[in-house]
Amino acid sequence: MATLILKRGAERRIRAGHPWIYRGEVADLKGGWSAEAAVDVTDSTGRFLGRGFYSPRSSLVCRLITRSDEPVDAELVHRRLTAALRFRQDAGLLGPAYRLCWSEADGLPGLVVDRYGPVSVIQCLTLGMARNSAWVRQALGRLFPAGEILRLDDATAARIEGFDPSRETREDELLVEEGGIRLAVSLGAGHKTGLYLDQRDNRLLAAGLAAGRRVLDGFCYTGGFACHALVGGASSALLLDSSADALALAARNLSLNGVAGRAELREANAFDVLRELEARGERFGLVVLDPPPFTRRKEALEAATRGYKEINIRGLRLLEPGGRLLTFSCSHHVTPALFEEICRQAAGDAGVRPRLLATLTQSRDHPVVLTIPETRYLTGLLLESP
Ligand code: SAH
Repeated sequence: MATLILKRGAERRIRAGHPWIYRGEVADLKGGWSAEAAVDVTDSTGRFLGRGFYSPRSSLVCRLITRSDEPVDAELVHRRLTAALRFRQDAGLLGPAYRLCWSEADGLPGLVVDRYGPVSVIQCLTLGMARNSAWVRQALGRLFPAGEILRLDDATAARIEGFDPSRETREDELLVEEGGIRLAVSLGAGHKTGLYLDQRDNRLLAAGLAAGRRVLDGFCYTGGFACHALVGGASSALLLDSSADALALAARNLSLNGVAGRAELREANAFDVLRELEARGERFGLVVLDPPPFTRRKEALEAATRGYKEINIRGLRLLEPGGRLLTFSCSHHVTPALFEEICRQAAGDAGVRPRLLATLTQSRDHPVVLTIPETRYLTGLLLESP
């Protein structure tokens, strides 16, 4: 087995509970290495720290899978997925669609598994996981004997890690029930593994905020927020997205839920439309801003901050008295504190003093590990205009 020896001091983060090792922290890699087999990781004095897959292309060269002297194999994956299922069962998080495995947060860095009814969707995010996806299939086969399994990798992660992304699609759409609405999911056709499951709790929240209100769903994707709001009694909704494919799915979801008649869809850049609506003096009772990550890199944080600030200034100005803004960031580098600060500055610039009704995060089936801050990436606020 190969051994990855860290530079002096590099073990500190590991000992503090974080599983990542960057290339610059490695002193040496000894022994024959292969993408399929986990390597031992030691500190500079040779003390064992754990095991994980080595990934030579990425700057994040290793993520510990275990800190014990145990084999990293199909059985380990089965034990981890069993534990992930039990955690969600005990927490009451199993439903028609949920995340079964959230990478580092479930002790399987580089692996996401989402469940859509009887279908499990595997997403591999590291070279080692991609090469060992058969272990994941085996484990899922044992946990859900009757289920179907698809693998839908993330193209960006695959490029960074250096493997061919698998895109196993499914002909028929699935209908997923989500708190009283139905959403059509075409596995393999859209973003993520099919739905933004991380926003489920926040979509349910939107349903309860919308009665009698005019709604703006600024980056609507397949229209989940707008569908909940309309079924929850919103008077009308304007859905914006820059992607025609996303809007086609949104139209499908609106009609599935019998609310298409109260909705208007616009294929446009939300930055432009927000400005235009503001200039026209339009007002809404609920504005939802759930944009894509404005940055994935720390160096681009300043530009991302400007983007978030701009849409939130406009979102706040579009609120009628008593109107609510549900606003989010899913950029890893935008912490809850930074996002709140951005929104504070946006409120200052917009000349409004909204109440902060709630701080929001990803759904609980995307658990956060306290010692691994990267497991939390979605942050949001519910603001109310006085
Ligand atoms: N709220 C959605 C997920 C939104 S994902 C849900 O709960 O399902 C972000 C969406 O923003 C994507 O559909 C993407 O196509 C869209 N988007 C990206 N840039 C945009 C822009 N400048 N204007 C409008 N939509 C944009």
